[in-house]
Amino acid sequence: MDQDIQEILFTPAEIAAANQKLGQQLARDYHGKNPLFVCVLKGAILFLTDLVRQIPESVEIDFMDVSSYHGKTTSSGEVKILKDLDVSVAGRDVVFVEDIIDTGKTLKALMDLFASRKAKSVKIVSLVDKPAHREQVVQADYIGLTCPDKFIVGYGMDYQENYRNLPYIGVLKSEVYL
Ligand code: 5GP
Repeated sequence: MDQDIQEILFTPAEIAAANQKLGQQLARDYHGKNPLFVCVLKGAILFLTDLVRQIPESVEIDFMDVSSYHGKTTSSGEVKILKDLDVSVAGRDVVFVEDIIDTGKTLKALMDLFASRKAKSVKIVSLVDKPAHREQVVQADYIGLTCPDKFIVGYGMDYQENYRNLPYIGVLKSEVYL
């Protein structure tokens, strides 16, 4: 896998520091609220598991699977729900856990959906923000790291289901997907 990586953007230590900072912010802001953390599969799974372990109070977790990229490196513009939540969000303080925000289309669609489902509040925590391609007006409430306009993999993020288990976040060599 390492040979397909052009450059390491964030080391495991930098990712851990971002998780610790985000966990402290969330623990403070959601104290006593028993929030529902909604993990957007599959890219955010490693982030979720590390993030919730930074929070000393009880939080609930649930999973949604949405697809917007269909195995390519550019957004299709469509957001399809492949797996919905098991629990109701009505009246809940919801925190969306995302791996990366690129165009913002995925989160815009999910925010609209959750508003219609009468969540009490909906906020977004994203490990990585990639602001270069933002098309929808969505702003993560909590951001760990900001990356340049490059296609990245690792720490949960894939290219065609590979590279998720890299312990760092790196830029994929363009010849891998060209
Ligand atoms: P958006 O709807 O904001 O354009 O895209 C959000 C989703 O696209 C992310 O949750 C992630 O699955 C995927 N994505 C966006 N940029 C990248 C990237 O640089 N690398 C990978 N692996 N996935 C990305």
